[in-house]
Amino acid sequence: MVVAAFAVGAVVGSFLNVCIYRIPRGISVAWPPSFCPLCQHRIAPWENVPIVAYLYLRGRCRYCGQAISPRYPLVELMTAILAVAVYLRFGLSLVALRYAFLGCALLAAVFIDLDHQIIPDVVTLPALGFGVATAFLLGWCSGVESVLGAITGAASALGIAHLGSALFGQDSLGGGDLKLLAAIGAYLGWASLLGALFLSFLLALPVAIIGLCARKFSLGSKIPFGPFLAVATLVVLFWGRSLWRLYLASLR
Ligand SMILES: [Zn+2]
Repeated sequence: MVVAAFAVGAVVGSFLNVCIYRIPRGISVAWPPSFCPLCQHRIAPWENVPIVAYLYLRGRCRYCGQAISPRYPLVELMTAILAVAVYLRFGLSLVALRYAFLGCALLAAVFIDLDHQIIPDVVTLPALGFGVATAFLLGWCSGVESVLGAITGAASALGIAHLGSALFGQDSLGGGDLKLLAAIGAYLGWASLLGALFLSFLLALPVAIIGLCARKFSLGSKIPFGPFLAVATLVVLFWGRSLWRLYLASLR
């Protein structure tokens, strides 16, 4: 089962690569079939086999010989590991499918955000819809909790945006971040969402401080928030309860 989860994850990861490349460029994810992003040459089906094909081709396009970004097999590997982790934690269940979907949406959102500084609605809105719908399938209570989580996500994004413009006089959080936070809230519920948000600031803070000290960026510059939020969400998803217990124990 673990091997099967890994394989399915890698194939889904291959599709995520297509989404990450094509969605922000306005190309359909279904047509045309896979092509080399460097020379546009169409790619044979076997060259699409996740991870393995990249290793076999030694990271170079068979037609133009240019180096293929190691990010392609990396995204496939990350999705495969995500699938295995979700299976081991939640078994074969609706909950597992739900969190696997969230993980995939986060991966796509983060890499598109890193490349283009946008998080497209095509990624966030289906994730939000799927999160709320599957929550209601799990029971009325989790459905309400999910809606509350989505509202908390959107509200905290608005709060951060207002705080950012008051402190720095510029937009600190975009509409894409707002929808992403709403989507994450729909999966985690309002309490865990706030936990994830807090954790993402804790993760971003040292990066911001090191960046400022190394003069990589100044006080006004933007750091993509998506990656920190995604990592924090997955940490809360897998280890939220243990972290919460640790936190409560530290208060005593
Ligand atoms: Zn090529």
